[in-house]
Amino acid sequence: MTNYDVVVVGAGNAALCAAIAAKEKGAQVLVLERGSVEKRGGNSFFTDGAIRVAYNNLDNIRKLIPEITDKEAEKIVMPEYNYSDFYNDLMRVTEAKSDPILANQLISKSYETISWMANLGIKFELNENQSFEQDGKLHFWGGLPLKTHNKGVGLIQKLFYKAEEIGIEIWYDSRATELMTDNDHITGVLVEKKDKVTMVNASSVILACGSFEANKKMRSENLGEEWEKAIVRGTEFNTGDGIKMALAVGAQKYGQWSGCHSIGTDYNAPKVGDFNKPGDIYKKSSFPLGLMINRNGNRFVDEGADFRNYTYAKYGREVLKQPDNTAFQVFDAKVRPLLRKEYNLEEATYYKADSLEELAQLISVDKDGLLKTIMEYNAAVQEGEYNPTIKDGKGTVGITPPKTNWALRLDQAPYYAYPLTCGITFAFGGLHVNQEGKVLNQGGEPISGLYAAGEMVGGIFYHNYPGGSGLMSGAVFGKLAGTSAAQFSKETLKFHKA
Ligand SMILES: Cc1cc2nc3c(=O)[nH]c(=O)nc-3n(C[C@H](O)[C@H](O)[C@H](O)COP(=O)(O)OP(=O)(O)OC[C@H]3O[C@@H](n4cnc5c(N)ncnc54)[C@H](O)[C@@H]3O)c2cc1C
Repeated sequence: MTNYDVVVVGAGNAALCAAIAAKEKGAQVLVLERGSVEKRGGNSFFTDGAIRVAYNNLDNIRKLIPEITDKEAEKIVMPEYNYSDFYNDLMRVTEAKSDPILANQLISKSYETISWMANLGIKFELNENQSFEQDGKLHFWGGLPLKTHNKGVGLIQKLFYKAEEIGIEIWYDSRATELMTDNDHITGVLVEKKDKVTMVNASSVILACGSFEANKKMRSENLGEEWEKAIVRGTEFNTGDGIKMALAVGAQKYGQWSGCHSIGTDYNAPKVGDFNKPGDIYKKSSFPLGLMINRNGNRFVDEGADFRNYTYAKYGREVLKQPDNTAFQVFDAKVRPLLRKEYNLEEATYYKADSLEELAQLISVDKDGLLKTIMEYNAAVQEGEYNPTIKDGKGTVGITPPKTNWALRLDQAPYYAYPLTCGITFAFGGLHVNQEGKVLNQGGEPISGLYAAGEMVGGIFYHNYPGGSGLMSGAVFGKLAGTSAAQFSKETLKFHKA
């Protein structure tokens, strides 16, 4: 069959949330996935599953994780993270550029959407990476206490299970290439499936097929030439197809097209995401506990400017700017046991030495530069109580860049260095959608029958990003787009029958 009410392009988190929401409203739904069954699920499959939601208290969290017992709950310190906390974080990191309509929609719908996901069968668990043990209690920090069970792999498995269970049709190896229109109404989409082109008719199309992070040419044109060298952390299939298709039918570009989410990632990570190695195992997120140093032995960012959730997504760009697009995270024996789990994986590249001189030699960093930087840093560290669960203000004085929090002297052998390069996650620029996920044209009017969700929505993130917001944005706008597209299809059908 090639006639559907709603066609969803993509099969990541945003697309599957959209498809399920549309089906729940009674629409006949087709999902198109460019990858094979083995390579389905997009960037969402690769995630750590961390998901940001506005909540009031531990009871809200326990509704999503009913497995937490009363005894366990007594040992949890869960600071409130309400609408204003999320909103202020988003506005702070985006330098107040986030579109207030979209930001409000994302945040105000976050708890109801995650509850809907839980009802679909998605399992959540505590994100212990965002906690520290102190006085026998688990203290959560940074507004990100939730993750999906079994990371992105678990999320995608459950979403596919639900989609199949409720009878959503899914075509694999099926690349959407062009939107069909009639008098400014979307009428369907062209699909390339194993060298065969099929025209699929639909009253509405939801684009949820990622941004252009895996397209070297688009990266170079929009982000700058140096971005050709970035490695792609997730799927190879997000090459900007959806954005290009929408622009071709008059959609409006929106958001920060020159910006992207990128992180310092293991130097030896695959050049594009390997579907056999999901789980975000190459990231290196404990930099606030150490120093970041380039090949000249110089520091180049304030490692302790904020919790890692609020800095990691903009530090990839800083790594890319360094000589050889390379940097090293350096730690001493004191903090090594505090590093996150990814540092203990066999995939983690690292060097260990009994002295800083030896370390400099091992990692081919300018020895004098490194020794001078660390000597000056150690001398600049101020006294104060070190506390990784809060922004402890234990910083440096008189060096540039400063280290604002969590500054401990680097003075206990053995020393460790983790080499990094820049890994791109997704681009911040995309399409303009309204609060229901309808794609807007140049004049700001909805294009009849066209919706978008997930990474390809522009205008929410600028310069930076609060960790865990990508999955929430995909789910919120996916669900909204699915619901709205199903409703639109019903109305169109009524109109044609009348
Ligand atoms: C390693 C890694 C870790 C991350 N960790 C987190 C995290 O812990 N928390 C968080 O919130 N965010 C995280 N993110 C960001 C997050 O993955 C994205 O924000 C979010 O998953 C994007 O969802 P999406 O559905 O828009 O896109 P995707 O999940 O990428 O889905 C896009 C889909 O479109 C398909 N597609 C592309 N082109 C076509 C076409 N022409 N036709 C048909 N199908 C097409 C792709 O194959 C894919 O299935 C991480 C990203 C990466 C790469």
